[in-house]
Amino acid sequence: MSVALNSGCADTKVIPILKERGQREVFCGLTGIIWLHRKIQDAFFLVVGSRTCAHLIQSAAGVMIFAEPRFATAIIDERDLAGLSDANDELDRVVQRLIERRPDIKLLFLVGSCPSEVIKLDLSRAAQRLSKQFNPSVRVLNYSGSGIETTFTQGEDACLAALVPVLPAFASSAAPSLLVVGTLADVVEDQWTRLFTQMGINDVAFFPPRRSTALPSVGPNTRYLLAQPFLTDTARALEERGAQRLPAPFPLGVEGTTEWLRAAANLFGVSDVKFDEVTMPKRERALRALQHQRPQLEGKRIFFFPDSQLEIPIARFLARELGMRLTEVGTPFLHKQHLAEELALLPDGIQISEGQHVENQLDRCRAAKPDIVVCGLGLANPLEAEGMTTKWAIELVFTPIQGYDQAADLAELFARPLNRRLRLVA
Ligand code: SF4
Repeated sequence: MSVALNSGCADTKVIPILKERGQREVFCGLTGIIWLHRKIQDAFFLVVGSRTCAHLIQSAAGVMIFAEPRFATAIIDERDLAGLSDANDELDRVVQRLIERRPDIKLLFLVGSCPSEVIKLDLSRAAQRLSKQFNPSVRVLNYSGSGIETTFTQGEDACLAALVPVLPAFASSAAPSLLVVGTLADVVEDQWTRLFTQMGINDVAFFPPRRSTALPSVGPNTRYLLAQPFLTDTARALEERGAQRLPAPFPLGVEGTTEWLRAAANLFGVSDVKFDEVTMPKRERALRALQHQRPQLEGKRIFFFPDSQLEIPIARFLARELGMRLTEVGTPFLHKQHLAEELALLPDGIQISEGQHVENQLDRCRAAKPDIVVCGLGLANPLEAEGMTTKWAIELVFTPIQGYDQAADLAELFARPLNRRLRLVA
């Protein structure tokens, strides 16, 4: 399969894409709870799952032991489902106790999982029932974090897509407004808010917001910019509410951030002079910071296993701004419209693969002998044991990497394991 990128009738770039289907090595969507609960500070995530789900969440969020957590697992097993009504009653009791104990919670997500016992429970009906019961002090929504046929960043997509229908509606006469979509570190949001303000763009909201009581409005006048490349269902839900996507590369690295900001500036009629006046000092500083990382990365060969769905924008950044050589860029799913601007920027002749057949891809990885491999935790240790240098894809979601001020930090995520390997070999 291939994708044709039409940038004018004379200039069509065709990128071959290897479609794969087989055994996969990925985390499930429950993982998203870790960064989502940090972002939405009055939300609680109640996983309805098995002991395995509870262990995953506990070990992924192990650092939270000193704070009162805003996530938990209601463990369901086959016995609970001997009578489904009992399981629903038990869930209601758990939620009642939780809400009594935690008056700070304003938004509760019931998060479904993949064990067969849980699939039998109708969590959307449970969420409606509980929302009615606790209205107006607590809103209850549901989404699935199941690991069946999904990858770990889809948990955020499912969560945000569940929130879209409850966003307030804009008056149809409202002036165009900008919505930045995707969970970002507060520090990144604050930097962008300052840049937008300096450009004279004031009507900007972020989704998800820091508090569920400040949900942004949406309507036909909303133009949205995706800050993360894995929000397919969220984008579809926003478009059903009338919002329109602003096409742009993703805000990773200096180039991606500039073109992403430029899409917003064009919408609001910001002049090129003003745009450069606001962004140039930041661009120049970020480029200088990248020059420090470049000697460690330039010419190094990198191989991506499909995991976070950030692979294509990151590969574009590493190739174009740091001179790395892309051997294979694997991605679990490839959304051709959302990634069109990214694909157009990739160097010619690279191998992109979509989906996973882990054995085949391991063979190709070994044959390519890359300097560094980006992959999930399950593959990293075996590959390190084979002498390869690896980077955990999940770090790309846990670390603030978007925007000018974080461009060098993003480069350092790749330089660090290469340096460590050099020191071990020396
Ligand atoms: S949702 Fe499924 S894949 Fe994820 S921890 Fe629970 S059982 Fe495992």
